[in-house]
Amino acid sequence: MTIQTPIKRKPTAGRLQPFFAIGYLFAAFSLPALSHAADNPGAHEHGHARLQIAVENNSIDLIFTSPAYNLAGFEHEARSDEEKNRLAEISQWLDTTPLVNTEAADCRITGATVELGGQSGKEDHDHHDHGGDHEESTHREYDVSQQLECDDTGARMTLTSALMEKFGNLEELAVEWVSPSGQGSARLARTNRAFTVSK
Ligand SMILES: [Zn+2]
Repeated sequence: MTIQTPIKRKPTAGRLQPFFAIGYLFAAFSLPALSHAADNPGAHEHGHARLQIAVENNSIDLIFTSPAYNLAGFEHEARSDEEKNRLAEISQWLDTTPLVNTEAADCRITGATVELGGQSGKEDHDHHDHGGDHEESTHREYDVSQQLECDDTGARMTLTSALMEKFGNLEELAVEWVSPSGQGSARLARTNRAFTVSK
């Protein structure tokens, strides 16, 4: 169930909608590496998040899914002004910062949506001890989509993500990518933030 409607939706003129495009590209490959890229991609596990990327020419469509805890430090409804400001700042950052970028940082956002919604399948939750933030049983997740245009014209594109630098609670980011020429996956950690995509 979506608790909060998208805060902003920019037009993606002349482009496929990102969910359709990524779904299409992932469906085009029947690859064990993808299905096993994350141990349990649907799970809501604090500290872990998922980034799906579809690359075509110099366009990147991505979907970032993360427990709200990783970004905000809490998952309950924002109560204090401090918490409300924190969520607003996060949404602003997610809406304006490319979640992957080249070494030359030449990717720019052409469209983005940021949603903070409830989480289905709570039984999948991995109950780590994470600071006693569980007086409420509800978990919430960020669902972010971005469309990027990058100047890089090479056949291989080395990308990094600013997410782990920005959000200290995010320990591991499972990346899956597809392009017309192939697919791959990577696990990014604090000490390993780069991955390479072949276009
Ligand atoms: Zn949670």
